[in-house]
Amino acid sequence: MSQTVLVIAAHPDDEVLGCGGAIARHAARSDRVHVAILAQGLYSRGEPTDAEVAALRSASEKASAILRVASLDLLDYPDNRMDTVARLDVTQTVEQLIATHRPSVVYTHWAGDVNVDHRRIHEAVVTACRPQPGHPVETLLFFEIASSTEWQPPGSAAPFLPNWFIDISATLDAKLSALQAYAAEMRPWPHARSLQAVEHLARWRGASVGYEAAEAFVLGRQRLGQQ
Ligand SMILES: [Zn+2]
Repeated sequence: MSQTVLVIAAHPDDEVLGCGGAIARHAARSDRVHVAILAQGLYSRGEPTDAEVAALRSASEKASAILRVASLDLLDYPDNRMDTVARLDVTQTVEQLIATHRPSVVYTHWAGDVNVDHRRIHEAVVTACRPQPGHPVETLLFFEIASSTEWQPPGSAAPFLPNWFIDISATLDAKLSALQAYAAEMRPWPHARSLQAVEHLARWRGASVGYEAAEAFVLGRQRLGQQ
């Protein structure tokens, strides 16, 4: 049975870094994948030009097309300043997304990233996914973001210890192509957010569990209902 999937990410490119291979795999299995990117991107580097904003929006749309995303929502929470926004506002935004799409699977950020927007979104999603009667979300998964998750010292937050692995051998190329759409966000090797590093990570996560390539997650919650 096909599933409805919702990816809730902070910044343009996080959706691809975190679960781009899984998105393409879902799409190949006729699942509907909706992507919501909550913060603007760019602004932490100073006020962007209209052309830069348009180019980033275009990159997000191109990446979504490569991964065969069903719908893309680009919201405008302040970039790298989500600690200045009331948590309730972010939670209500996520609740609205869940009410609109009724996903059974949700992917979002890990709680222990260096990036404050990632952490605030994690908290909002966990709150919005409280397993009340009739809530649609059955599987809640937290992804890792190269250049944020592994940059957190272990004493500063919970370390990312994955226990859920998705084989992306068949969709790693799509993930890397989608990242090339975000070329302006990528960095040269050996930066952790380089194409080579992302591929190395996928290969290592795969080798950890006997696959050619994988994305790794922490399972937040799995509910198995009657169906
Ligand atoms: Zn991010």
